[in-house]
Amino acid sequence: MINVFLGDITELHGTPYAAQAIVNAANERLVAGSGVCGAIFRAAGLRHLQQACHSVAPCPTGSARITPAFDLASQCVEAIIHAVGPRFSDASSDAADRLLADAYRASISCLRSAGLTSIAYPSISTGVFGFPLERAAAVSVRTLREVDGPDLAVTLVAFNEQTKLAWEEALAAQ
Ligand code: ADP
Repeated sequence: MINVFLGDITELHGTPYAAQAIVNAANERLVAGSGVCGAIFRAAGLRHLQQACHSVAPCPTGSARITPAFDLASQCVEAIIHAVGPRFSDASSDAADRLLADAYRASISCLRSAGLTSIAYPSISTGVFGFPLERAAAVSVRTLREVDGPDLAVTLVAFNEQTKLAWEEALAAQ
């Protein structure tokens, strides 16, 4: 099941879209950054999350790592999955599509390995990493549909209306 929700991925508790794991749009070194990464590090507790990230870094583009959720456990988040999407300008657009799909897929592998079944994603790579929004929405929906199953609850968390619309259109089109 795939849903779209407009809001902040660090504040899903108490909504119907609260998830056991939230995905961080991470960088390969797994260090605190801006955008959704900054928001997740702040909410989880910068020091603890950074320490945990150091012990599982680096994380090549297209892959994912899992850490505890630290302070976000108070919001019933059990794990943070750090997924690294491509910078759009670094790769040809076909390669970028593949790497973005890999990042979504790798996150689901981490989720399943941890025995968890619900996950919330931000729109990976569409902020600082410059991936075109509609293109990223199509890739993410196609990839998640391939791995989706009756046991899985996936929420796509849009931080703005434009992202929400792109995901809704991709879900309706595919
Ligand atoms: P990237 O470096 O992968 O492009 P960004 O954090 O710059 O990552 O942006 C990824 C997406 O996350 C963008 O669509 C941005 O609007 C969104 N975003 C930023 N903050 C939050 C948040 N608190 N919750 C959910 N999405 C967020």
